[in-house]
Amino acid sequence: MSRWRDAVRAIRGPLEFAQRGPEAAERVHDLAETLRGALERAAELWIPPEAVKRLHAAREGLAGGATPEALAGVATRLAPLLDPGFPERCLAQPASRVPGVGPKTAQALARKEIATVEDLLFFLPRAYEDRREIVPIEKLEVGRAAVFAGTVTRSAVVPLRNGRRFFQAIVTDGTGAVQLKWFRGIQSFEERLQPGAKVLVAGEVRRYRYAKELHHPDVERLADDASPGELPRIVPSYSAVEGLAPRSVRRLVESALRCAGDLVDGWLPEATVAELCLAEIGASLREVHLPGVGLEPERLRARDTPYHLRLVAEELFLLQLGLEQRRRELRARATQPLVLSAEAEQRALAALPFALTADQRRVWGEIKADLARPAPMNRLLVGDVGTGKTVLAVLAAAAARAAGRTTALLAPTELLAEQHFATLRKLATPLGLRSAFVSGATPPRERHTLARALENGEVSLVVGTHALMSESVALPRLGLVVIDEQHRFGVAQRRALASKGENPHLLAMSATPIPRSLALTVFGDLDHSTLREKPAGRAPVATRVVPPTAGREVMAAVNETLRRGEQIYVVYPLVEESEKADLKDATRGFERLRKALPGVTAALVHGRLASDERARAMNDFVAGRVRVLVATTVIEVGVDVPNATLLIVQHAERFGLAQLHQLRGRVGRGTRSGRALFIGDPTTSEGVERLALLEGTDSGFEIAEADLRIRGAGEWLGTRQAGHLPELRLADLLRHGDYLEPVRRAAEQLLRRDPKLAASPELAAAVARRWSARLELATA
Ligand code: ADP
Ligand code: MG
Repeated sequence: MSRWRDAVRAIRGPLEFAQRGPEAAERVHDLAETLRGALERAAELWIPPEAVKRLHAAREGLAGGATPEALAGVATRLAPLLDPGFPERCLAQPASRVPGVGPKTAQALARKEIATVEDLLFFLPRAYEDRREIVPIEKLEVGRAAVFAGTVTRSAVVPLRNGRRFFQAIVTDGTGAVQLKWFRGIQSFEERLQPGAKVLVAGEVRRYRYAKELHHPDVERLADDASPGELPRIVPSYSAVEGLAPRSVRRLVESALRCAGDLVDGWLPEATVAELCLAEIGASLREVHLPGVGLEPERLRARDTPYHLRLVAEELFLLQLGLEQRRRELRARATQPLVLSAEAEQRALAALPFALTADQRRVWGEIKADLARPAPMNRLLVGDVGTGKTVLAVLAAAAARAAGRTTALLAPTELLAEQHFATLRKLATPLGLRSAFVSGATPPRERHTLARALENGEVSLVVGTHALMSESVALPRLGLVVIDEQHRFGVAQRRALASKGENPHLLAMSATPIPRSLALTVFGDLDHSTLREKPAGRAPVATRVVPPTAGREVMAAVNETLRRGEQIYVVYPLVEESEKADLKDATRGFERLRKALPGVTAALVHGRLASDERARAMNDFVAGRVRVLVATTVIEVGVDVPNATLLIVQHAERFGLAQLHQLRGRVGRGTRSGRALFIGDPTTSEGVERLALLEGTDSGFEIAEADLRIRGAGEWLGTRQAGHLPELRLADLLRHGDYLEPVRRAAEQLLRRDPKLAASPELAAAVARRWSARLELATA
């Protein structure tokens, strides 16, 4: 709803009543008056000038009373305005329709991706300048921004020796004088700043010889009789638009506001608006762009006013409606249920090498219930490293097999897929599940054989990398897709794999705890399960952050570990941009270590290694033949070597916190306790704080939240996943995460009552508009 829609309702009411017939019209004596009042009020709104004209004309048409002819005339005249699609059409018009936006300006705006009237309205201030305090000129301080008012006493274009010119104006206010200089746009200032002009000036004060001056200050012409009380006080400042002066940008936004601001709809239910203490929608855009004096600049800057928050909540509401609709749509799809009989389930559980923890039993219950439904499961299972997610995937695969369906498990890297395959097999084989492995290197003939084996039920579980998604790998009878380390994949990949079956069930697993704010948005279309408890007997990994100079301490730990007959990981960072140097660093470290540890078997693995070489090294490590494994980040997830108890990470400051936490999950997986040494040289206090956090907590959730706070959502999710992050114009998930929950509840409630939003087609259209590109992308 918007102020405009309210006004339309007030016009429509009497108009429709009157059109019921002459008797109805006669019964209401003051019909003409009511209608004229409603028209007049509507004309005062911030709507397009043409609309205002029409409203006035309609009102004049009633001058002779509400005769049937007059009413018919009004109805015809107003028909385009009363159309529910009118606001939407106005807002979608090119920005050039806004008074003051010429073709050149429109081009400048377009470069900033401001194409429509709506874009301009939602081009929100980046900051606010407090101009409530006007400083006397004599009090201006060099190096500080200030606002002052005064009169131009002299102005002139001054030629420079190099043939260029600048424009200079001297402004005085009775306490002192100061020079303003412009080196560009001379002409327009020359015209505006003639001697005698009253001005309000804002800018940074600099020193020039013995005087103070300002370069390219922001200057506002004041009416000659302006009193200080009328001066603008808190001034929005927008991110720069190339080719436009800041003042022009302000003017244009205001112009857009005045011709369309009251057309913008708010859709949040009133109850939610009240619960969250949000402002009315009509006031929100106005106050955000033209804040009243009562608002604190700090709160404005923090986007923390009820006005900002209303806009934020509106944005999140549309987002949640889209997500919720999509969830419902996915649930409405049909698929084959995968049911494990109670007896078969008992047998499977008994065949496992361990009993499930209570946490695992609970999550298995959730998964089981999903699988038993005739609609595809869409579940995200989040559990810290070592909480035992794999076994749940295996049980789900067993259910698939019982229903005559196959399972595909997708891992992010070949190495992880190989490792997964090895550990998975140990769990799956006792359950009677035969598994197979597919990589990019699997020859076509084997792919063929695999397809046949899947078809006739010999093999029921395929583990692989991206190769699984390729056209040349057929996955017949696919009933379940498991994605490990889900955060490493984009939605498109999820979709590619899922499309190989007919609406297969999906189990996405992630060791990276996802902070709630992101879970509700990025993965908002998935149901969530969380494993918190680790299988008993696991002590937290003793973690220390040490400087690069602590070589002796590190070597002592290494020797101790080796003496106990245990194994060691040494991890080096490897990032694409500095891949060569990184690799050299890891290789050098490997050589140094070999020299320092004569007689100790060590291996180096990295992504560049041929897969058979890598597999050999990994197998040797798993079998205990290799005692020290030097690796780039590839061991990050999936490797399960209970005898490995020491993890050393070089250049720890270059890793994400969540990544480091995952890495340390590699050690202490057996009954022996694990230890992690993060060798880091953080150069910032923030870096120190980050690493120290790992020493203090073993909670992956706490770490993920902190990591998210420090790095921001986009980076946290990685580029792939960032594409999954809906583009939010206003909301900042870190700052406004608290609003998600109530807003999501409101969306859910609304859709429960009206799944297709049939009662508010305008809202349905708004959701569709907001999601048109996204929804397509997100259809897994
Ligand atoms: P992650 O959640 O990190 O993928 P895994 O599934 O690899 O964890 O399990 C970690 C280790 O814990 C494995 O060695 C696995 O066999 C073991 N494990 C899993 N569940 C249990 C359990 N209920 N009791 C004992 N050990 C378990
Ligand atoms: Mg795992």
